[in-house]
Amino acid sequence: MNHLEALVEELGDRVVTDAERMEKYRWDRANDPDAGVPLAVVRAGSTEDVQAAMRFAAAHGVPVVPRGAGSGLSGGASAVPGCLVLSTERMTEIEVDPVTRTAVVQPGLTNAQVKAAAAEHDLWYPPDPSSFEICSIGGNIATNAGGLCCVKYGVTTDYVLGLTVVLADGTAVQLGGARLKDVAGLSLTKLFVGSEGTLGIITEIVLRLIPRQRPPATLVAVFATLDDATNSVLAITRRLRPSMLEFMDRPTIHAVEDMTKMGLDREAAAMLVIQSDEPAGHAATECELIASLCEENNATEVFATDDPDEGEAFVAARRNAIPAVERTGTLLLEDVGVPVPRLGALVNGTADISAKREVTIAVIAHAGDGNTHPLIVFDPSDPDMAERARTAYGEVMELAMSLGGTITGEHGVGRLKRPWLADYLGPDVLALNQKIKDALDPQGILNPGSVF
Ligand SMILES: Cc1cc2nc3c(=O)[nH]c(=O)nc-3n(C[C@H](O)[C@H](O)[C@H](O)COP(=O)(O)OP(=O)(O)OC[C@H]3O[C@@H](n4cnc5c(N)ncnc54)[C@H](O)[C@@H]3O)c2cc1C
Repeated sequence: MNHLEALVEELGDRVVTDAERMEKYRWDRANDPDAGVPLAVVRAGSTEDVQAAMRFAAAHGVPVVPRGAGSGLSGGASAVPGCLVLSTERMTEIEVDPVTRTAVVQPGLTNAQVKAAAAEHDLWYPPDPSSFEICSIGGNIATNAGGLCCVKYGVTTDYVLGLTVVLADGTAVQLGGARLKDVAGLSLTKLFVGSEGTLGIITEIVLRLIPRQRPPATLVAVFATLDDATNSVLAITRRLRPSMLEFMDRPTIHAVEDMTKMGLDREAAAMLVIQSDEPAGHAATECELIASLCEENNATEVFATDDPDEGEAFVAARRNAIPAVERTGTLLLEDVGVPVPRLGALVNGTADISAKREVTIAVIAHAGDGNTHPLIVFDPSDPDMAERARTAYGEVMELAMSLGGTITGEHGVGRLKRPWLADYLGPDVLALNQKIKDALDPQGILNPGSVF
């Protein structure tokens, strides 16, 4: 019996080796051209299945690439040659406890399914990546995903109370639990949040839930210059806490308008989509204040609505920005973040790089967090343009670092950003990261080539 047959014997048809069936498990949304061909895909149904797969991998030195829904944008879930892709897509159980306001969740559920299950109890799981309908909650934990409401409600890690994690040798550990406070031992639960599948495989999550969000009021403001828009963001975040503060520049507005035909202003240099979820009456007052701050910063048009459907149409336009820009060419998708006062410098500097490298860079941003997604558009059949796009990709990260920012605010390092990590962290912090990785994964079998 060859070594894979031993795993098949243990896990049966949860092990997929058919090349055609494995094909869709090779890539995430970064479409890494160097994605390898796996030895097998394990479609685990339980923590025990994951343990069996990890014990097998450790015994035979086989690399393991954990995979949620494959919506990642950093190449973190792209397969390496001869690996096991460890898919959590079949692990979709959830139990909500309205008394402790927690949910015990398996990793394969989508973010939207977690929100829906919480809503049945009048509760809310806030983190809302734009991909919330297509990404898994396990992937969200592994990347510490952000999103649109994070400007007020924080990111994924703020809602993770406990985890079950299968380690590289197949041991399963339970960290934390349905307790709001717990400082016994090192903060290991948080160590695994955002670890991008490099330290262990998350098989169960205890999430903190909060009362259902109040219906938000929405405001859309349009500007003739990038500076007017980013100055408005600063004016707003200095005084107020909107529940959403999103930015789209002109190339993005055009791409979204081409796709939706919803009547966006194609002359505008930038547009902000802002929400307030303050209690009834107060939301409108907060929106009025925000409107006046935008007007003080030369907004050319401000539109406010407390009609949820009308508001949702603008939010959906922002959420659809990546697919809309993707229709115009192949994307190199950036995720740099800076302290909010440097947002203007980042947006303007990105426009300069776009002009210098003669590639379109459409910028969307979770502006209230200072987290921008410059979308570099290129034609892969034009080698010169592809090279200029790659140069621009690096230059945007260098610009962010020069402004005191980060190379990734929420998508993760994955395989795409690994070459820039050492520069960003510096030698001491990089060595500390490596020590932790080596302690937990001495054989280096967990997601090799990603982050480390
Ligand atoms: C249109 C679009 C919009 C997006 N908008 C946002 C946004 O607003 N905010 C944001 O943060 N992201 C956004 N993303 C990126 C992506 O959706 C997130 O990174 C998401 O968290 C990935 O989840 P996934 O289930 O698809 O993970 P995958 O892509 O499958 O994996 C992501 C990483 O997590 C690891 N991993 C997955 N599951 C586990 C597990 N159970 N245990 C250990 N490691 C695991 C993988 O190895 C990989 O390194 C967007 C993506 C798209 C396509």
